[in-house]
Amino acid sequence: MSDQPTIFALSSGRGRAGVAVIRISGPSARLVLERMAAPCPPPRRAAFRRIVDPVSSELLDAALVLFFAGPSSETGEDIAELQLHGSPAVVSSVLRALSTLPGCRLAEPGEFARRAFLNGKIDLTAAEGLADLIDAETDAQRRQALAQAGGAFARLCDGWRQNLLEARALTEAAIDFSDEPDVAADALERAREMCRPLLADLQRHLSGAHRGEIIRDGYKVVLAGAPNVGKSSLLNALARRDVAIVSSEPGTTRDVLEVHLDLAGYAVIVADTAGLREATGAVEREGIRRTRERANTADLVVWVTDATAPSLPPPDLTTEETSLVVAMNKSDLMQSGSASTPAAASTDSAATPIYLSALSGAGIGKLLERITSLLQASFDGPASAVVPTQERHRLALHASAEALSRYLSVERPAAELAAEDLRLAADALGRITGRVDAEEVLGQIFGRFCIGK
Ligand code: GDP
Repeated sequence: MSDQPTIFALSSGRGRAGVAVIRISGPSARLVLERMAAPCPPPRRAAFRRIVDPVSSELLDAALVLFFAGPSSETGEDIAELQLHGSPAVVSSVLRALSTLPGCRLAEPGEFARRAFLNGKIDLTAAEGLADLIDAETDAQRRQALAQAGGAFARLCDGWRQNLLEARALTEAAIDFSDEPDVAADALERAREMCRPLLADLQRHLSGAHRGEIIRDGYKVVLAGAPNVGKSSLLNALARRDVAIVSSEPGTTRDVLEVHLDLAGYAVIVADTAGLREATGAVEREGIRRTRERANTADLVVWVTDATAPSLPPPDLTTEETSLVVAMNKSDLMQSGSASTPAAASTDSAATPIYLSALSGAGIGKLLERITSLLQASFDGPASAVVPTQERHRLALHASAEALSRYLSVERPAAELAAEDLRLAADALGRITGRVDAEEVLGQIFGRFCIGK
């Protein structure tokens, strides 16, 4: 028997519930069932068992019990699963009983998934996909996480890496055949031919990386504008709950407040920021600095202005990649019949300002529609079901593409330099899946999980 401890944890949510699932993974999983739920059922067959305390033999619960024999289990080890009645008393008595068994201890966060990775059951992107799936709040997040957890992105990276390894083998063969120039030149050219479409593919996926990150992390909308134009009120109207302090005194929103919305299945994060104006105090200056910083990295800036005294957004507020919408707030205060009343501004193009009232709620639906259509437009582009979803993936893809384009940019590179660039390009892809240098990111990735996963 290996001396790896057997780990256990409540895998379902805490608190009262119909069912609570406790999972046990490790070399003693079978022994646990023999001591607490005898006899151990055949692998993958559910059985109804009395669950008893292994020391006192007291009856703790009656439950459905499963056994999965390693290595064909989720973690690659023997796994036992107890589907108990979901009361806190049952769960804590069973957890306590488990901790008395030799070699058994409570699992750390993400330890089941970590063992699955270490036993070659999943790669790092699948582990990240699982963590994202557990956190998914919208349909788009669920679909993307599910594809990643199923290994779609890993298969793509592994395929690319395999091609790079073959190109490198050809390049190294050219070094070995350096006294036969024709053979060497032919091998080098074949390697280059393999790599040209590969670079194009990497670049296409890099250009889709932002879409993947938007789905995962949310489409970022920033409300910006002068103090007192109604940004906090608008945020409240969007969230339909009180999240920001609304005050008629200018300069009250000094920090950044966020609400999370689900628009057409996509996660959207709307942030209210400190009013943009000449700051008087240090705190306000800091607030304004954050406004500009957030606006510069947002996907969309909503410039909120008072419809009775409109102002234009400062030109440095948005970058080329950021969309801009102008929201004319307080339209309820406008004189009816004036030139720029809502009725007069009915032609609806992307640049048309939206007249609304955070106070009465008029026009809020229109603003949400505009945000939704801009959000959907940002997903136009080369369609690929599999896109990098995290900064870690994007950086590695970028490093790989960089090494590859360096290799391809030199017409007749020395074979040794070419082989080195191909190695760098392949290693960068290997880091995405964890086939290379996994150690440094393990804590970061598996620490995100809850206990029991
Ligand atoms: P911020 O400084 O831009 O966040 O502005 P606030 O949301 O704190 O609002 C400033 C003042 O304008 C408050 O007294 C709000 O009640 C008022 N206000 C906000 N939106 C509207 C609106 O649509 N119509 C009217 N009449 N007043 C509004």
